[in-house]
Amino acid sequence: MTYDYCIIGGGIVGLATGMALLERQPGASLVLLEKESALAQHQTGHNSGVIHAGIYYAPGSLKAELCRRGALATKAFCDQHSIPYEVCGKFVVATTALELERMNALFERAKTNKIDIARLDGNELQTLEPNIVGLGALFVKTTGIVDYEVVAKTMGTVIHSKGGELVCSAQVTAIRESTDDVTVSTREHSWTARRLIVCGGLQSDRLARLAGLKLEHQIVPFRGEYFRLPATKNGIVRHLIYPVPDPDLPFLGIHLTRMIDGGVTVGPNAVLGFAREGYPKFSIHAADVAAYAGFGGFWKMIGNNWRSGLIEGRNSLWKRWYLRECRKYCPSLAIDDLLPEKAGIRAQAVARDGSLIHDFLFVHTDRMLHVCNAPSPAATSAIPIGEMIADECFGRGSQNPGRG
Ligand SMILES: Cc1cc2nc3c(=O)[nH]c(=O)nc-3n(C[C@H](O)[C@H](O)[C@H](O)COP(=O)(O)OP(=O)(O)OC[C@H]3O[C@@H](n4cnc5c(N)ncnc54)[C@H](O)[C@@H]3O)c2cc1C
Repeated sequence: MTYDYCIIGGGIVGLATGMALLERQPGASLVLLEKESALAQHQTGHNSGVIHAGIYYAPGSLKAELCRRGALATKAFCDQHSIPYEVCGKFVVATTALELERMNALFERAKTNKIDIARLDGNELQTLEPNIVGLGALFVKTTGIVDYEVVAKTMGTVIHSKGGELVCSAQVTAIRESTDDVTVSTREHSWTARRLIVCGGLQSDRLARLAGLKLEHQIVPFRGEYFRLPATKNGIVRHLIYPVPDPDLPFLGIHLTRMIDGGVTVGPNAVLGFAREGYPKFSIHAADVAAYAGFGGFWKMIGNNWRSGLIEGRNSLWKRWYLRECRKYCPSLAIDDLLPEKAGIRAQAVARDGSLIHDFLFVHTDRMLHVCNAPSPAATSAIPIGEMIADECFGRGSQNPGRG
């Protein structure tokens, strides 16, 4: 049979897209292929679980708009499906004069993005968060927490209930596009569909190249390493506590995150990974390293960011340095408070000129749409991303790269 739609990738972006397609076109035939034995096993199941409000993103940008809409849509989806979430709010804490300056710029940006935000001085911060110190802070009231693995798996249930097929343990190894359709194959099976949407996260560039696309970027894995505080410290903060981010880097800095399970995590850092899907520390996958080592943009990125790379590497290797980052705003934390917690791995798209691609990147041909970059806050923004793909994926607004 020829399906109306085939989706590769059972992370939150692929699942939200499947849901939106069946919403727009009830009764359409849809198959979603996921290589793991369960949904949401990579970025979607290894993140901070924050429903971002959208303070960081350039006003008017797609990222700002999708985040704002995504936060509302995620909360509504959770309400509709009785998924636990909490709007606990967050503080972005400045601990130096430079951070205070950056914090003030962030305040203006958040206001332009129409986000409910307040600016506090150090005393006001300490009244609300007795264990946190800083020269000042931004208070973002609408930030929330949720378990995105639960959200994604519920999206899978919705797709199934609308007649969509979910096939796990199906690793796509070939993609062939013709004038009328696209055929996608694993070692054992093939599926043909009129449209293919590829949401492959950490493997998105490989899947695009498999489909014959010529890309100008490469996915480089960045590990995000976390610790968990002992249960006795679960009450250490009432809100989420973030540092002021360096505007040149796409990562938000090590934060204290209250989790929906009641625990508190510390992290993530952002350290170069040697395996796209190897979560234990020191995991190495030769083909993953070879893929970026052979890409000129990777070495330019290293040249541009070697200083922060060294700091991140040091903090990753020595817990004491990692702790120093957290103690800048939470001085009561001790080394024994940092208990092991699973890491996440970000799919960071790097351009040929060595720049880190911050924005969502969609690449299409006549019958395929590849989501080539879906960085944070793509978990928050997944529902409107899926709607956008469903509405207009095969027409306007994305870049057509030609064939490789
Ligand atoms: C450490 C970390 C913290 C983050 N924190 C947040 C946060 O707090 N809030 C937020 O909004 N965002 C956050 N993000 C970002 C967010 O998690 C991701 O942007 C989002 O999950 C991306 O979803 P995805 O579906 O594109 O990718 P993924 O979840 O990685 O899914 C891609 C799927 O494609 C499958 N796949 C790949 N290749 C194949 C193949 N050949 N055949 C079949 N299937 C294949 C994979 O197995 C995988 O399941 C964070 C990310 C990380 C890593």
